Amino acid sequence: MPEIPDLEAIRHYLMPRLEGLTVTRVEAPIPWLVRSGAVELESIVGHGFGEIHRLGKFLIFFMDGDRLLVINPMLTGRFHWVEAGARRPPRLGVVVAFDNGHELRYSDQRRMGRIYLVARDQLDTVPQIAKLGPDAMAVGEEEFLARIKKRAGQIKNTLTNGEFLAGIGNAYSDEILWEAQLHPHRRRSTMSEEDLRRLYAAIRSTIEWASGVVDQTVKEEGLGRKEEWRQHLQVHRRAGEPCPRCGEPIKGQVRSGSETNYCVKCQPLFT
Ligand SMILES: [Zn+2]
Repeated sequence: MPEIPDLEAIRHYLMPRLEGLTVTRVEAPIPWLVRSGAVELESIVGHGFGEIHRLGKFLIFFMDGDRLLVINPMLTGRFHWVEAGARRPPRLGVVVAFDNGHELRYSDQRRMGRIYLVARDQLDTVPQIAKLGPDAMAVGEEEFLARIKKRAGQIKNTLTNGEFLAGIGNAYSDEILWEAQLHPHRRRSTMSEEDLRRLYAAIRSTIEWASGVVDQTVKEEGLGRKEEWRQHLQVHRRAGEPCPRCGEPIKGQVRSGSETNYCVKCQPLFT
C-alpha cells in the first residue's frame, strides 16, 4: 500500500510535468473505480491541472474550473506517466490524455482504488476524508500528544488508524516504531510522555528520510513499475535479517494477512 513517502514522490514527479497542459481525452476502462461517475469524469476535457496536494493516503489534483480530482490508490493503485502510444499496463483503470502527447494513467491490480471528481469546496464529501485525522506530517507536537493521550490501545494499531493520524500504514508504522524503540504491541497507556515525544520525533524523521530516498528513486526510474518503494526500509519485511541497530534477528509476525516486523531487543514490550 502506498504511504506518505511514495505519494510524496509521485506528487513531486507529476506536478511539474502536468503544469500548463490541457486534457484532450479521458477514458475509464474500469469505470467503477471512478466513484463520482465515469461519465462525469469526461467533463475535465479541455481543463488543466494545477497543484497537487496530499492528504493522508489521498492525492488531490487541483483543476481549473474549481474542481478536484481525488485519488486514493488503496493497496495497489499505480500511476504512470507515458507517451500516448506506450504499451498499456494490465488492469488499466483510468487514462487522462494531454495536449503534449502524454498520458497520465492509473492502473490497479486489485482494483480497490477510489477516484472522485468534486467541487473544490466539497472535499469533505469524499467518503473517509471527512473522518480523517490530521496528516501525520502536518500535525504539531502538542496536538499529537493531546490526541494520542486519548488512545489507550496498542501503539501500532493507533498509528495506522487514519482517524487518529492520516497517512501511516503497515510499513512505515514498523519503521517509525523501530526508530522510536517502541514495541508495536505496547499499549499507549504504559508509555511515558518522553516515549510519546520520541515517537513524534520518529514519525517526522523516518518519513522525511524515506521521502528523500523515494523521491530520488522515482526521479531516476520514473513511475509505473511500482506503487510503493520499500528497498530502503530497515525492518519492514526484513524478518530474520539482523537489526541494523543491534544485530538481533528481526522478528516477523503475520496477523490477518499483514506482517509486523520489529526487534525484540531494541523494542522491548515491557520496560
Ligand atoms: Zn535491535
